[in-house]
Amino acid sequence: MLPIDLHAHSNVSDGMLPPAEVVTRAFERGCKLFALTDHDDLRGLAVAADTARTLGMQFLPGVEVSVTWRKHTIHVVGLGVDTANETLQQGLASVRQGRDERAVRMSDALAALGIPDMLAGARKFADNPEMIGRAHFARHLIERGLAKDMKGVFKKYLAKGKPGYVSHQWAALADAVSWIRAAGGLAVIAHPGRYEFGRMLMGELIAEFKAAGGEAIEVVSGSHQAIDVSRFARLAEDEGLYASLGSDYHATGEGAREPGILPDLPPGPVPVWRRWYADADLLAEVA
Ligand code: AMP
Ligand code: MN
Ligand code: MN
Ligand code: MN
Repeated sequence: MLPIDLHAHSNVSDGMLPPAEVVTRAFERGCKLFALTDHDDLRGLAVAADTARTLGMQFLPGVEVSVTWRKHTIHVVGLGVDTANETLQQGLASVRQGRDERAVRMSDALAALGIPDMLAGARKFADNPEMIGRAHFARHLIERGLAKDMKGVFKKYLAKGKPGYVSHQWAALADAVSWIRAAGGLAVIAHPGRYEFGRMLMGELIAEFKAAGGEAIEVVSGSHQAIDVSRFARLAEDEGLYASLGSDYHATGEGAREPGILPDLPPGPVPVWRRWYADADLLAEVA
């Protein structure tokens, strides 16, 4: 296991814990290097960084940008971003802008299905009102007894193609990568194993991502099976991308992922933390 986790959420987006509590939880589980990566919002990062400093844990400010690439939704994590950067802040503000109107459309779609009043119910779960999303709808559908867990509720209502899903236009891939780079960050393709892309499409995504300035791909992820880990380790090495790792933690009890420590990266690709830490620095402490 590695005491490194470079992908996790707080209640600034669709996680359940406040930023300080996510950071503390990761630390208590043995984490030495942590990144908070809320969707489309930087507002948890100041408190998270302070908490990590107090605990004596290394911290990278991060973000997970929602992207529409050829009609597919994909996620791009930015690591080591300057939270004061206006290009990134404005880009993310533009991405957040569509969320409320999308939530209304989701609520209407569910009402048409005979499930009324979803908007108010979902809003109760969205601690950051600008960041209402599918996870908040999911929690309220579960609260109403309409599904038993997150996996089930997405499968029944909220995944692409299901009746509560509405299409939405997020950031362009090249824009997301350029905002992250403008803020001094490194762009990572998040949980590639979740995208139902064949070899061709994945190859095209990686080519466009690299051309835009993207540098890394998640290899170990809470969203990945063992087969994804080997596939993307090899792809990272072949493509000269750094390999990243992250729990994608959202809430305890929702799925198996806890934050803070993750299985080792397979040999081959260069681990992404080398960008900031010589192995010796961090891993000596860790061993
Ligand atoms: P949104 O950005 O509002 O479309 O919400 C996307 C979020 O929904 C993801 O970041 C996950 O937190 C959650 N999510 C998406 N698909 C699933 C799934 N199949 N099971 C559980 N959570 C999911
Ligand atoms: Mn999420
Ligand atoms: Mn994601
Ligand atoms: Mn995530």
